Amino acid sequence: MAKKEKSKVYVKRLDDWTSAEKVSQALLSIWQQIAPPEDIMKKNDFLALKLTFGEEGTSGYIKAAWLSGLIGFLKQKTENLFIVETNTLYREKRSNAIGHLQVAHSHGYNIQTTGIPIIIADGLHGRDGQNIAIRGEHFEHARIAKAVCQSDWLICLSHVTGHIQSGFAGSLKNLGMGCAARAGKLLQHSKTLPEIIVEKCIGCGACMKICPANAIGLKKKKAILVKERCIGCGECTVVCRTGAIEIKYDENVVKFQEKMVEYALGAKVAVGSRMRCINLIYNLTKNCDCMSKDESPLVPDIGMVGGIDPVAVDKASLDMAGIDTFKQAHAEIDPLIQIQHAEKIGLGTSEYDLIEI
Ligand code: SF4
Ligand code: SF4
Repeated sequence: MAKKEKSKVYVKRLDDWTSAEKVSQALLSIWQQIAPPEDIMKKNDFLALKLTFGEEGTSGYIKAAWLSGLIGFLKQKTENLFIVETNTLYREKRSNAIGHLQVAHSHGYNIQTTGIPIIIADGLHGRDGQNIAIRGEHFEHARIAKAVCQSDWLICLSHVTGHIQSGFAGSLKNLGMGCAARAGKLLQHSKTLPEIIVEKCIGCGACMKICPANAIGLKKKKAILVKERCIGCGECTVVCRTGAIEIKYDENVVKFQEKMVEYALGAKVAVGSRMRCINLIYNLTKNCDCMSKDESPLVPDIGMVGGIDPVAVDKASLDMAGIDTFKQAHAEIDPLIQIQHAEKIGLGTSEYDLIEI
């Protein structure tokens, strides 16, 4: 049997994250190891920096000031550099592009602070997606946010944390959930269709107007769902202002991880080999930055790892932080499921050579 080829993963140790300049230099030094050859990136290529701004009330997200070195470097390569993010599935401020940009601004992200624009890749309401054909076990296509699909390059910058459903959140999570349009997020999280809570419905009809499948009607001033027509896009859940349409986050933790990495494959297929991943292992908390609160770190800050292969980058991050760290934080979840499934569907390899820089 042919020996499995290992992926290269570069690591820059960093224990002081209080100096934005030091973090910025470390990020740039990782990028210089994984950057494509000089002549491949063209001046008019669209290069998306994928990250998350964090929910209101948390401060764990990647800071805008940390990107200054990387952005300054990349701006010399292309005129079309931008930060990309997608709307959330759940009904909070970041579930539409306006609220999302407001949160980004309040967390220090805007064109004045970074020098580049922010594009919410799945549009104003999270509807702008494109079906990308994949060979998964759960999906034959992934609904990936349009602006991600239209990008020539994708740099996935991920804050490594634990996660309530996947146990571990790194590049695979940032690609799989973070690059999906709302319908794709819903398909990963839920195995059932949205439900209408009749007592909360005021009969405004907003859900009926927005539904692309004509799957909602009104009867005696209450919304009713025609399940046979519903395509599970999730639009109705965010438009309802009384919270009368609920998503059931009922997918089990194994299938959730498998679906998530199939969506990560969708993002990878969309941009091809023009993808790079960098995981920042600092302030590693039990839960991700979508929680509206700060938590104490589970382990001391480690540094950052980068590579071309998201599976290897995540496996190296898991190993460096200790798989038990995540298993103790979420005892019922095995985070290796996502690594194993990602390998199985051909997204990358968990075998890596760690190169200290
Ligand atoms: S949007 Fe909400 S409140 Fe309005 S009809 Fe639909 S379910 Fe009822
Ligand atoms: S999930 Fe989409 S298709 Fe289904 S009822 Fe809601 S808006 Fe219509």
